[in-house]
Amino acid sequence: MTKHIFVTGGVVSSLGKGLTSASIGMLLERRGLRVKLQKLDPYINVDPGTMSPYQHGEVYVLDDGSETDLDLGHYERFTHSPLSRHSNYTTGQIYLSVIEKERRGEFLGKTVQVIPHITNEIKGVISKLADQETDVVITEIGGTVGDIESQPFLEAIRQFALDVGKENCLYIHLTLVPYLKAAGELKTKPTQHSVGQLREIGIQPDILICRTERSISHEDRQKIGLFCNIPIEAVIEEKDKEFSIYEVPLSLVDNGLDALIIKRLGLNSDLLELDDWRNLLHCLRNPKHEISIAVVGKYAEHKDAYKSIYEALDHAGIHHNAQVRIGRIQSESIEREGPERLLSGYDGILVPGGFGERGIEGKIEAIRYARERRIPFFGICLGMQCAVIEFARHVIGLEGAHSTEFNKDTLRPVICLLDEQKNITDKGGTMRLGAQTAHLAPDGVARECYQKPIIEERHRHRYEFNNVYRQQFAAHNMVVTGTSPDGSLAEIIELPDHPWFLAVQYHPEFKSKPTAAHPLFSGLIQAAIERRSFRSERNSEVSAS
Ligand code: GLN
Repeated sequence: MTKHIFVTGGVVSSLGKGLTSASIGMLLERRGLRVKLQKLDPYINVDPGTMSPYQHGEVYVLDDGSETDLDLGHYERFTHSPLSRHSNYTTGQIYLSVIEKERRGEFLGKTVQVIPHITNEIKGVISKLADQETDVVITEIGGTVGDIESQPFLEAIRQFALDVGKENCLYIHLTLVPYLKAAGELKTKPTQHSVGQLREIGIQPDILICRTERSISHEDRQKIGLFCNIPIEAVIEEKDKEFSIYEVPLSLVDNGLDALIIKRLGLNSDLLELDDWRNLLHCLRNPKHEISIAVVGKYAEHKDAYKSIYEALDHAGIHHNAQVRIGRIQSESIEREGPERLLSGYDGILVPGGFGERGIEGKIEAIRYARERRIPFFGICLGMQCAVIEFARHVIGLEGAHSTEFNKDTLRPVICLLDEQKNITDKGGTMRLGAQTAHLAPDGVARECYQKPIIEERHRHRYEFNNVYRQQFAAHNMVVTGTSPDGSLAEIIELPDHPWFLAVQYHPEFKSKPTAAHPLFSGLIQAAIERRSFRSERNSEVSAS
């Protein structure tokens, strides 16, 4: 019988439910259990694919092409849980499915209502993950208890315990215990209210995880337990981590969470295995090198817009024992202030993916700067397209070269719409999405990094390198070193005359893990370390002479 853990959040949003759920998944997995993770989001968009990064942060793409919430990135980085389109549902998807059933006449003349039809649909998507190969399903409910939109999801998880038995379900509630400076103490009232709201719905949480900036005293835990009807051993402190998010699972272990879950669900488990994780934290704490990478994007000021890219840079840093200082640079500010002022001093430059024209010229200037100053450069998706435009304009001399995404009438459309995209009008879920195979050329940085001839990476784009120009680019030494299996789509470009200049049409950041850095990010960091040591040697020679 598969066991179910439901993770809800209270008091405020952004408490890190995703990270906590991922950490729980990781700890159970490392006790030998087979875990699946799932996020239910109460908003009405069918998926986050159509939302601006300002609203939602990054859109995380899975192998099967689903565009999902960025918390699924945490799930993949922390666990081996297989993720698919069943791992993320929204209110929009739930309603869409119920309304389609109604149109097909599947409700036999009944009035279709939130209870039971919407709640049944929600319970259905939770049950879908429970099978013989799964010991525990962890379902995270997006939003905060008390939100109007969350109600049907909370009602569904309440009913779920009736269906499968209370002994097979565990409710974990994540709350905030704020420190009030004026009073000089931690306040437990918001947590009491939040649990009160859950209990009104009929859910008595089994475990409380309390986010806090200061340690919670035994007396405060006792008080929380008393008011929330929870034994003190199940009031778990989760103190803010200033150093790294990868500390979260270890602190949960220190506070006894994994052992408690095992006990409460009556699971048989192995001993917890965390050596490699402790090792990666050791590497993070004791770096041998320090380098800096500029990430030049349209949403640089938003901390979650390029989440997986920032994480992947950290992973590559761990791999090379290097502390990676990331500079988030707004591409529009390069247009105003020029690249020298904003980019000099960095050991590498990365231009991430994106949509829309704002900031494009700043990205192109940043790439020109990296190319001419021989700074390691990594372009991702739109970053690759910008590298192609920059090369066309400034090396080949194709004045006005552009992508038809930004200038439909350009005379030099070096980036153009994929054939399969030409007749598509709907925006949601219609790009070239998900895992695609690419073949690598025998020579080149890509092949050297991957150490294999065939790769599989995740995509999310509508535009591509225009093959009409391939010869011309090759003649000027920008080469295609990775293509779709039939050779028709350029997936990777490189400049063999540059120390490290590589750009890809796909999103490698989605496949990087803290314990297994992505080979291309690792290559970039290696090149940045080499550049840094070369420059410091040169500087010391200059100062000695
Ligand atoms: N806007 C570009 C395209 O659709 C790039 C997309 C991306 O960077 N993910 O092709």
